[in-house]
Amino acid sequence: SKDNGRNCYSFYFDELETDSNRVLTLDSELRKAIENREFTLAYQPKISTEKNEIVGIEALVRWNSEKLGFVSPAEFIEHAEESGLIIPLSELIFELACEGYHQLVSAGYPNVPIAVNVSSIHFQQQSFLDSVQTILERNNTSAQSFEIEVTERTVMNSAQETVSKLVKLRQLGFKLSIDDFGTGYSSLSYLVRFPLDVLKIDRSFIQHICSLDDKQAIVDAIIQMAHRLKMKVVAEGVETSQQVELLKSMGCDYIQGYYYSKPLPMEELIDFFHFWEVE
Ligand code: C2E
Ligand code: CA
Ligand code: CA
Ligand code: CA
Repeated sequence: SKDNGRNCYSFYFDELETDSNRVLTLDSELRKAIENREFTLAYQPKISTEKNEIVGIEALVRWNSEKLGFVSPAEFIEHAEESGLIIPLSELIFELACEGYHQLVSAGYPNVPIAVNVSSIHFQQQSFLDSVQTILERNNTSAQSFEIEVTERTVMNSAQETVSKLVKLRQLGFKLSIDDFGTGYSSLSYLVRFPLDVLKIDRSFIQHICSLDDKQAIVDAIIQMAHRLKMKVVAEGVETSQQVELLKSMGCDYIQGYYYSKPLPMEELIDFFHFWEVE
């Protein structure tokens, strides 16, 4: 709700103002937390509009710090990007996603790809491909079990290098998604240059899709364009049945959002899978 949002917002700023050491604390706590592997992943399912099936899950990092309490990924990821800690953190997130994959296999769901968010800083590292491959091998997993989510920001950086990296990732077997589509330098035409499988429409477009005609027109256009480019479309942050119905009528392929499920710890996700099967 609106009130909630406002409270969260002011809380965040109050904290920043009253605790000017927060950045320093965050930095040292983050360092320790990476060493001690104090992170977990929460997984959010994606549902196909056509068959009402679970088609994949997105891994979202969670940090419950002993000293700072729950810190939102938006805050600590940004900080980690500025301090360089994003590299070891990203590698840890990939490791955890591999563990998640093995848990899914054990539960009887070997064919559900796990989407991992990749920071542009990590992606741009020369060693990115090697480091990802090493992690997959060490954990007995293969690229086919994963999807990589990059943002517009990543894709727009030094385009030629980016294209060749994406091509290599795809050759390895990864599926590639462009995340938060529409929020950045959203020129639809540049998409043609990138070998992408999935386009994720940002929540900011989905939020008012039922009340604002211009948002509807934009989402409709994005879906048509993505399909012309042979990409599948995920709508992010879907919260109501009206949104689901509207997106279905527009031909959106997959839905992700609280309407179906919040991001869940692996055990709860597996319960969700069981529940979904018997429904
Ligand atoms: P994102 O990749 O766009 O992830 C979607 C965010 O929207 C998640 O927030 C998710 O919990 C939230 N969400 C999903 N459905 C709904 C809904 O129906 N309504 C609302 N209001 N929110 C919904 P979260 O987990 O707090 O993550 C925020 C951002 O932090 C992510 O945005 C991503 O940019 C970054 N992030 C999270 N985990 C990772 C990670 O493992 N690696 C990297 N590099 N970034 C991450
Ligand atoms: Ca994402
Ligand atoms: Ca997103
Ligand atoms: Ca987002």
